[in-house]
Amino acid sequence: MPESSEPAFTQLKSIKTHSLPSFSQQMRIEVDSYLVQSCRWLTMLSCLLIVVFLAFRVLNQQGLSVLQVTMVVTPLLALMGISTYLALNYPQFKRRFYTVTYMVCLAICWSGWVSLGIVNSPELLSSYESLVNILGLAFVIALFPLRSWCLIVVLGFVVFISFWRIYLLPADFALISTTKLICFFIVIVTGQIVANGWFIRAVKKDAENKRLLQKLAHQAQTDALTELANRGCFDNTLTTEIANSQRTQKPLCIILLDVDFFKKLNDSLGHQKGDKCLIEIAKMLAGVANRPRDLCARYGGEEFILLLPETDLAGAIIVAEKIKKRLSELAIPHPDSNVSQFVTVSQGIAQFKSGMTEDELCHVADENLYKVKQSTRNHFAFNES
Ligand code: GH3
Ligand code: MG
Ligand code: MG
Repeated sequence: MPESSEPAFTQLKSIKTHSLPSFSQQMRIEVDSYLVQSCRWLTMLSCLLIVVFLAFRVLNQQGLSVLQVTMVVTPLLALMGISTYLALNYPQFKRRFYTVTYMVCLAICWSGWVSLGIVNSPELLSSYESLVNILGLAFVIALFPLRSWCLIVVLGFVVFISFWRIYLLPADFALISTTKLICFFIVIVTGQIVANGWFIRAVKKDAENKRLLQKLAHQAQTDALTELANRGCFDNTLTTEIANSQRTQKPLCIILLDVDFFKKLNDSLGHQKGDKCLIEIAKMLAGVANRPRDLCARYGGEEFILLLPETDLAGAIIVAEKIKKRLSELAIPHPDSNVSQFVTVSQGIAQFKSGMTEDELCHVADENLYKVKQSTRNHFAFNES
């Protein structure tokens, strides 16, 4: 039987707690998925703005040169193509790197295009400023979880459009551009702080809820005293393993164990010592049933049960012998046992036969346990097949 480094009962505890990401990992995942969504809707917004703008120019019979259309459409199409390719082929590959690069490139594209528009029609400066304001707002929302990138891109936009105003209307600089620059800076920084605060709180709450649900699910399957699987967990797993054994025709065994004269131990040493004894036995059992699919559960008060998938009767007998040997090595004192000066257990083994129900299988194990109780105790019994 292959030995695993970790006993089953600790596996039951640790598998689920380790499967949840830490808060910082969760935060990273959430930010990255937000950035992917931002890329998507920024692309859609860009397409919409371009369609509206081109339609406006055509409707106003302002005409468009081939160069203008090429300069607008080509970089956008290239960006969309590259990002779609990356998203489809490398969904995990440096998500943050490519989403931020995409957004920065998009902002540069827009700046280039707006500059070209202003050079061609300086009288439309105010319209282009409105367009840049809309874009600035869109990029603040898209990049708010990353403060430095948010500031770089959006302040870049503001400085860029202010440059055009200074260049074309130097007289306006002091009044409009400087005020706008300062206001924009304050609005962006405070908006980013507020939005990011909400975002962090939402992710924290979500992570906390997941952790609580996991804890609850863990508690619902675990026995509080021994931290083994509880009866409900055993019943569910048995149903699954029986179905699996029926399908694969692989053997399945269970071992039902009962501590001998446990009531006497409680009576002579007290319930606290009795509890400690149960915990020690549980640890020992978990160490014995250590294959990945083995399950060790507390069945009742001082009764335990082992579920051994893909194990035939010969294998189950080896496990039962191991339990007897390990328990004797533990040498837990029992001052009032009729069979030994140490704690002993009786075991009933049952092998699954095709067509058996869960209850029938457990009943066979219980009958065999009863046989041992009626005879020697401190041993095991099984049905010869
Ligand atoms: P037998 O050898 O025939 O199995 O006798 P027994 O005394 O072990 O079995 P019995 O069914 O007569 O008594 C079981 C005792 O187990 C009674 C109960 O006080 C004790 N017990 C059940 N659950 C716990 C527990 O969680 N902690 C402690 N300390 N004792 C428990
Ligand atoms: Mg009992
Ligand atoms: Mg007992």
